[in-house]
Formats: sequence, structure tokens, C-alpha cells
Amino acid sequence: MSRRKKSFPCGHKGYGQICHRCAQQQATWEQKRKRKNEWQETFAQDPIDLRALPKNVVVKARNIIMGLQTANNYRDFHGKRLRHDRLVISIPVTRNYRLLCRDYGSFLTPEEVISHEEYNVCKPGS
Ligand SMILES: [Zn+2]
Repeated sequence: MSRRKKSFPCGHKGYGQICHRCAQQQATWEQKRKRKNEWQETFAQDPIDLRALPKNVVVKARNIIMGLQTANNYRDFHGKRLRHDRLVISIPVTRNYRLLCRDYGSFLTPEEVISHEEYNVCKPGS
């Protein structure tokens, strides 16, 4: 059997039945797509929609939400009540994002994650 390089339809040269460079590329793409799908699927578990947020914000927001579920103390996360609505608690997620939670007395419910700009806009009188 000859071990001569041949040209594949894709333009690459190599040995064997398929182009290993393209097969490798394909595998990488599939892995990336799979990882992306897995990431997308994790949002179904969230009590609030975090899809539009950057990944680091999503991860931090989830940590806070989980922490609130177990410890139920927003002060652990430097949360503060809004001045104009004492039942809403704002918890810093990153420098630019806040998690808003509603206080139902015995428990807190996460409502949404908003950016610092949105947060300032929704604050009346500022
Ligand atoms: Zn190829």
C-alpha cells in the first residue's frame, strides 16, 4: 500500500479516508457548540431570567441567589433596602450589576438583575 499524500476535497493534503485537519476542526466546533448548549440549558434552573447578562454576572448572581436560599440573610451579601421602596432589596453582584429582591417578610424572592445604569434610572428623584 502506498502512503502517498492525497488531496481532499477541502483542499488539505493528508493520508487516509478523511481529512484529519477538518475532522479535528469539526470536533472542536461540536465541542464548543455542546458547551454553549449546556450553558444555555442551565438558565432553565434559574428562578429569574439571567440570559441577557454577561457570564461572570450570571455566575455571581447564582451564587447570591443560592446563598439567599440557604442563609436567607441579604446583609451577608451587602444588600440594602431601597430608600423609596423598603420592600425591595438591592444586592451588588458586580460593580455594574445589582440583584433586586423582594422582601416577603419571612423570605426573599429574587426579582431581576439590572445594570447600574438601569438601577439609577429606576430610582425616583435622582
Ligand atoms: Zn481538510
